[in-house]
Amino acid sequence: MASYPIRVFGDPVLKSPAAEVTDLDGRFVKLVDAMFTTMYDAPGVGLAAPQVGVPQRFFVYDVGDGPEVLINPHIVESEGEWSYEEGCLSIPGLAFEIVRPKLVTVQAHDVEGNEVIVQGDELLGRVMQHEIDHLDGVLMFDRLEKAERKLALKQWREHVESGERPNASHAL
Ligand code: ZN
Repeated sequence: MASYPIRVFGDPVLKSPAAEVTDLDGRFVKLVDAMFTTMYDAPGVGLAAPQVGVPQRFFVYDVGDGPEVLINPHIVESEGEWSYEEGCLSIPGLAFEIVRPKLVTVQAHDVEGNEVIVQGDELLGRVMQHEIDHLDGVLMFDRLEKAERKLALKQWREHVESGERPNASHAL
């Protein structure tokens, strides 16, 4: 199965809210498979469709328990606070300490169209929040305080200019 090129910061698809998935047909299943391949090749632990240029509301992830896909996901409950250094496959090479809810409950659909409820604590909770942000056109930079964001964008420009090959492991 083919792997997609991952879109990076600056690509407008990453800033646009994605549309609900309506057709769970064979073509969609192939697309999900290609996203798994892309995520493992990267390597990353999560990947949202807009990151490969597909403006649809779904994402794939694997936090160590095998590949999963969540379609048209919504956060229905969130609890607590957890600080974690997040990386993003679309902002390769950089990572930022971001505080978000620790435990989230997500309602979504699987590839067969069944409703699923996934509760994620710590890493899984973080992955789901980060990927749902991608579906809303929100990036890590948008989750930083103003002063932090300015610094982060400067870091990004320097990083791009340096032309270094990014280390993307554990990115979302
Ligand atoms: Zn990301």
